[in-house]
Amino acid sequence: MDAHAVTPVRDRGSGLVVAVAADRAMLPAFWVGQPVGVRIDLVARTAHAALHTAGHLIEAAGREQGWVPAANSHFPGQARIGFTAPVPDARLDTPEGREEVTEALRAAVARAVVWDLPVTWGNDSEGRRIVRLSGLHSALCGGTHVRSLGDLAGVVLRDLKVRKGRIRVSCSAAHRERS
Ligand SMILES: [Zn+2]
Repeated sequence: MDAHAVTPVRDRGSGLVVAVAADRAMLPAFWVGQPVGVRIDLVARTAHAALHTAGHLIEAAGREQGWVPAANSHFPGQARIGFTAPVPDARLDTPEGREEVTEALRAAVARAVVWDLPVTWGNDSEGRRIVRLSGLHSALCGGTHVRSLGDLAGVVLRDLKVRKGRIRVSCSAAHRERS
């Protein structure tokens, strides 16, 4: 059977996920209702799952600091979690303070990974998908996640920046090798 690599792209307006083939000139004609086979790239999938889950875990750690999660990106190589601090946080004003608070975030993340807390999901009353990190955190999310936090390896909080009132934590993470 013919195989074609596709990249899923979300259409912002409709929310539809469209599969875009790099070699679309080579695609055969499809008809509505035609069955197609799909294979998931496991390496890419587990990498995304790790990064996504690590992002939620950092959201949880930031909330422990009294911050409110804001916009974030889970894209490999540029993953970052954004927060606002409703109450002015003096630690954010100096490099030493920012390092201290980053260390606190790292400690909270490391603790939850050691505890190997389960990651579960379900729908709320309006049918929206909610992802839960045990009792730590829950978030509306349609992404892919690891099954439990012990599946995370090498969660690295690289740095924490504050710009225009936005706290931004950049991170990387990988999926633990299964033995
Ligand atoms: Zn997610």
